[in-house]
Amino acid sequence: MNIIDLHTHTISSGHAYSTFEENVRGAKRSQIKYLGTSDHAVSMPGGPHEFHFVNMSVLPKVIEDINILIGIEANIMDYNGTIDVADDIKERMDYIIASLHPPVITPGNIEENTRSIIEAMKNPDVTIIGHPDDGRYPVDYNQIVQAAKKTNTLLEINNASLNPSGYREGTVENSRTILNLCKEHGVSVIFGSDAHVSYSIGDFTRCVALANEVEFPESLIVNNDFNKLKKYLNSNI
Ligand SMILES: [Zn+2]
Ligand SMILES: [Zn+2]
Repeated sequence: MNIIDLHTHTISSGHAYSTFEENVRGAKRSQIKYLGTSDHAVSMPGGPHEFHFVNMSVLPKVIEDINILIGIEANIMDYNGTIDVADDIKERMDYIIASLHPPVITPGNIEENTRSIIEAMKNPDVTIIGHPDDGRYPVDYNQIVQAAKKTNTLLEINNASLNPSGYREGTVENSRTILNLCKEHGVSVIFGSDAHVSYSIGDFTRCVALANEVEFPESLIVNNDFNKLKKYLNSNI
Protein backbone atom coordinates (compact mmCIF):
# COMPACT_ATOMS: atom_id res chain seq x y z
CA MET A 1 0.00 0.00 0.00
CA ASN A 2 1.47 3.35 -1.04
CA ILE A 3 0.92 5.68 1.89
CA ILE A 4 3.27 8.54 0.99
CA ASP A 5 2.66 11.36 -1.51
CA LEU A 6 5.26 14.13 -1.56
CA HIS A 7 4.40 15.84 -4.85
CA THR A 8 1.25 17.91 -4.34
CA HIS A 9 0.30 21.50 -5.09
CA THR A 10 -2.08 23.94 -3.43
CA ILE A 11 -3.85 26.98 -4.79
CA SER A 12 -0.68 28.93 -3.93
CA SER A 13 1.03 27.46 -7.01
CA GLY A 14 -1.18 29.68 -9.18
CA HIS A 15 -2.42 26.93 -11.52
CA ALA A 16 -3.70 24.45 -8.89
CA TYR A 17 -7.17 24.44 -7.44
CA SER A 18 -7.29 23.21 -3.84
CA THR A 19 -6.34 24.64 -0.48
CA PHE A 20 -3.99 22.89 1.92
CA GLU A 21 -6.94 21.76 4.03
CA GLU A 22 -8.74 20.33 0.98
CA ASN A 23 -5.54 18.45 0.11
CA VAL A 24 -5.45 16.97 3.61
CA ARG A 25 -9.00 15.76 3.06
CA GLY A 26 -7.92 14.33 -0.30
CA ALA A 27 -5.09 12.51 1.45
CA LYS A 28 -7.54 11.08 3.94
CA ARG A 29 -9.78 9.78 1.15
CA SER A 30 -6.78 8.09 -0.50
CA GLN A 31 -5.51 6.68 2.80
CA ILE A 32 -2.28 8.62 2.52
CA LYS A 33 -0.44 8.73 5.87
CA TYR A 34 2.41 11.07 4.86
CA LEU A 35 1.37 14.11 2.86
CA GLY A 36 4.08 16.37 1.48
CA THR A 37 3.03 19.78 0.25
CA SER A 38 5.32 21.04 -2.51
CA ASP A 39 4.22 24.21 -4.25
CA HIS A 40 6.16 25.57 -7.20
CA ALA A 41 9.16 27.71 -6.33
CA VAL A 42 9.31 31.42 -7.11
CA SER A 43 10.45 31.28 -10.76
CA MET A 44 7.25 29.57 -11.93
CA PRO A 45 4.92 32.22 -13.40
CA GLY A 46 2.04 32.73 -10.97
CA GLY A 47 3.88 30.86 -8.22
CA PRO A 48 4.08 31.97 -4.60
CA HIS A 49 6.37 34.60 -3.10
CA GLU A 50 9.27 33.20 -1.07
CA PHE A 51 7.49 34.17 2.17
CA HIS A 52 5.09 31.31 1.42
CA PHE A 53 7.92 28.85 2.04
CA VAL A 54 9.55 30.74 4.92
CA ASN A 55 6.27 30.60 6.86
CA MET A 56 5.43 26.92 6.40
CA SER A 57 6.21 26.03 10.00
CA VAL A 58 2.69 27.27 10.82
CA LEU A 59 1.37 24.03 9.35
CA PRO A 60 0.63 21.32 11.93
CA LYS A 61 3.02 18.36 11.83
CA VAL A 62 0.21 15.86 12.21
CA ILE A 63 -3.44 16.32 11.28
CA GLU A 64 -5.60 13.53 12.60
CA ASP A 65 -3.47 10.56 11.59
CA ILE A 66 -1.76 12.21 8.62
CA ASN A 67 1.86 13.33 8.95
CA ILE A 68 2.62 16.56 7.14
CA LEU A 69 5.93 17.14 5.40
CA ILE A 70 6.94 20.50 3.99
CA GLY A 71 8.62 20.78 0.65
CA ILE A 72 9.02 22.80 -2.50
CA GLU A 73 9.13 21.96 -6.19
CA ALA A 74 12.21 23.89 -7.27
CA ASN A 75 12.94 24.89 -10.85
CA ILE A 76 16.18 23.81 -12.45
CA MET A 77 17.26 27.17 -13.81
CA ASP A 78 20.18 26.34 -16.12
CA TYR A 79 22.22 23.48 -17.57
CA ASN A 80 24.46 23.58 -14.51
CA GLY A 81 21.61 22.42 -12.28
CA THR A 82 21.13 25.64 -10.31
CA ILE A 83 17.83 25.68 -8.38
CA ASP A 84 15.72 28.66 -7.29
CA VAL A 85 15.64 28.00 -3.55
CA ALA A 86 17.22 30.59 -1.24
CA ASP A 87 19.23 29.41 1.78
CA ASP A 88 16.66 30.55 4.34
CA ILE A 89 14.01 28.46 2.57
CA LYS A 90 16.26 25.48 1.95
CA GLU A 91 16.96 24.90 5.62
CA ARG A 92 13.26 24.83 6.46
CA MET A 93 12.30 22.13 3.96
CA ASP A 94 11.91 18.44 4.75
CA TYR A 95 12.65 17.77 1.09
CA ILE A 96 13.21 19.50 -2.24
CA ILE A 97 11.94 18.31 -5.61
CA ALA A 98 13.92 19.70 -8.57
CA SER A 99 12.23 19.76 -11.98
CA LEU A 100 12.62 21.08 -15.51
CA HIS A 101 9.71 23.32 -16.52
CA PRO A 102 9.33 24.94 -19.98
CA PRO A 103 8.31 28.40 -18.70
CA VAL A 104 11.62 28.54 -16.81
CA ILE A 105 14.24 26.67 -18.86
CA THR A 106 14.36 26.13 -22.60
CA PRO A 107 15.04 22.50 -23.53
CA GLY A 108 18.64 21.97 -24.56
CA ASN A 109 20.26 19.07 -26.34
CA ILE A 110 20.62 15.65 -24.67
CA GLU A 111 23.99 16.52 -23.21
CA GLU A 112 22.72 19.83 -21.73
CA ASN A 113 19.50 18.40 -20.32
CA THR A 114 21.31 15.43 -18.81
CA ARG A 115 23.89 17.72 -17.23
CA SER A 116 21.20 19.97 -15.75
CA ILE A 117 19.61 17.01 -13.94
CA ILE A 118 22.88 15.38 -12.85
CA GLU A 119 24.25 18.65 -11.47
CA ALA A 120 20.96 19.22 -9.59
CA MET A 121 21.30 15.72 -8.11
CA LYS A 122 24.80 16.57 -6.89
CA ASN A 123 23.22 19.32 -4.79
CA PRO A 124 22.78 17.60 -1.39
CA ASP A 125 19.58 19.61 -0.76
CA VAL A 126 17.81 18.00 -3.72
CA THR A 127 15.82 14.96 -2.62
CA ILE A 128 13.82 14.08 -5.72
CA ILE A 129 14.00 14.76 -9.45
CA GLY A 130 10.44 15.58 -10.51
CA HIS A 131 9.02 14.10 -13.71
CA PRO A 132 12.34 13.08 -15.35
CA ASP A 133 10.10 11.41 -17.96
CA ASP A 134 9.40 14.63 -19.85
CA GLY A 135 10.32 13.92 -23.48
CA ARG A 136 10.45 17.63 -24.23
CA TYR A 137 13.80 17.44 -22.40
CA PRO A 138 15.53 14.41 -23.93
CA VAL A 139 18.18 12.95 -21.59
CA ASP A 140 20.53 10.00 -21.25
CA TYR A 141 18.65 7.82 -18.76
CA ASN A 142 21.60 5.52 -18.20
CA GLN A 143 23.69 8.38 -16.84
CA ILE A 144 20.78 9.76 -14.83
CA VAL A 145 19.98 6.50 -13.09
CA GLN A 146 23.62 5.91 -12.22
CA ALA A 147 23.94 9.47 -10.87
CA ALA A 148 20.78 8.95 -8.79
CA LYS A 149 22.41 5.94 -7.20
CA LYS A 150 25.66 7.77 -6.54
CA THR A 151 24.04 10.90 -5.09
CA ASN A 152 21.27 9.18 -3.11
CA THR A 153 18.58 11.04 -5.05
CA LEU A 154 15.15 9.67 -5.84
CA LEU A 155 13.79 9.65 -9.38
CA GLU A 156 10.09 10.28 -9.58
CA ILE A 157 7.57 8.22 -11.51
CA ASN A 158 4.93 10.87 -12.06
CA ASN A 159 1.29 9.82 -12.23
CA ALA A 160 0.15 13.06 -13.89
CA SER A 161 2.78 12.66 -16.63
CA LEU A 162 1.37 9.23 -17.44
CA ASN A 163 -2.11 10.64 -18.03
CA PRO A 164 -2.73 10.21 -21.79
CA SER A 165 -4.24 13.71 -21.89
CA GLY A 166 -1.19 15.21 -20.17
CA TYR A 167 1.03 17.77 -21.87
CA ARG A 168 4.43 16.13 -21.35
CA GLU A 169 5.67 13.94 -24.20
CA GLY A 170 6.90 10.34 -24.45
CA THR A 171 6.23 9.81 -20.77
CA VAL A 172 5.10 6.18 -20.82
CA GLU A 173 8.08 5.05 -22.84
CA ASN A 174 10.48 7.16 -20.77
CA SER A 175 9.03 6.05 -17.42
CA ARG A 176 9.33 2.44 -18.57
CA THR A 177 13.00 3.05 -19.43
CA ILE A 178 13.62 4.65 -16.02
CA LEU A 179 11.95 1.74 -14.20
CA ASN A 180 13.88 -0.86 -16.15
CA LEU A 181 17.21 0.86 -15.51
CA CYS A 182 16.42 1.38 -11.81
CA LYS A 183 15.53 -2.29 -11.53
CA GLU A 184 18.78 -3.26 -13.23
CA HIS A 185 20.94 -1.02 -11.01
CA GLY A 186 18.96 -1.41 -7.76
CA VAL A 187 17.93 2.26 -7.59
CA SER A 188 14.83 3.34 -5.66
CA VAL A 189 12.04 5.43 -7.16
CA ILE A 190 9.23 7.49 -5.66
CA PHE A 191 5.74 7.71 -7.11
CA GLY A 192 4.33 11.25 -7.18
CA SER A 193 0.75 12.22 -7.88
CA ASP A 194 1.79 15.78 -8.88
CA ALA A 195 -1.75 16.63 -7.77
CA HIS A 196 -2.97 20.06 -8.79
CA VAL A 197 -6.37 19.37 -7.22
CA SER A 198 -7.25 17.50 -4.02
CA TYR A 199 -9.01 14.69 -5.91
CA SER A 200 -5.66 13.54 -7.35
CA ILE A 201 -3.79 13.29 -4.06
CA GLY A 202 -2.45 9.79 -3.56
CA ASP A 203 -3.47 8.66 -7.03
CA PHE A 204 -0.69 6.42 -8.29
CA THR A 205 -2.85 4.23 -10.52
CA ARG A 206 -0.77 4.71 -13.65
CA CYS A 207 2.55 4.42 -11.80
CA VAL A 208 1.47 1.12 -10.27
CA ALA A 209 0.23 -0.25 -13.60
CA LEU A 210 3.54 0.55 -15.30
CA ALA A 211 5.61 -0.81 -12.40
CA ASN A 212 3.62 -4.03 -12.55
CA GLU A 213 4.10 -4.25 -16.29
CA VAL A 214 7.90 -4.19 -15.96
CA GLU A 215 7.82 -6.34 -12.80
CA PHE A 216 9.44 -3.58 -10.78
CA PRO A 217 10.38 -4.78 -7.27
CA GLU A 218 8.25 -3.40 -4.40
CA SER A 219 11.42 -3.09 -2.35
CA LEU A 220 12.63 -0.25 -4.62
CA ILE A 221 9.43 1.80 -4.22
CA VAL A 222 9.75 4.16 -1.25
CA ASN A 223 6.07 5.13 -1.05
CA ASN A 224 5.06 2.01 0.82
CA ASP A 225 7.31 2.42 3.89
CA PHE A 226 8.35 5.65 5.60
CA ASN A 227 11.55 4.02 6.86
CA LYS A 228 12.67 3.60 3.26
CA LEU A 229 12.01 7.25 2.48
CA LYS A 230 13.62 8.65 5.64
CA LYS A 231 17.23 8.38 4.56
CA TYR A 232 16.57 10.59 1.54
CA LEU A 233 14.92 13.44 3.47
CA ASN A 234 16.70 16.65 4.48
CA SER A 235 15.26 16.74 8.01
CA ASN A 236 14.81 14.24 10.80
CA ILE A 237 11.13 13.56 11.02
ZN1 LIG B 1 2.33 22.75 -11.62
ZN1 LIG C 1 6.64 19.98 -12.10
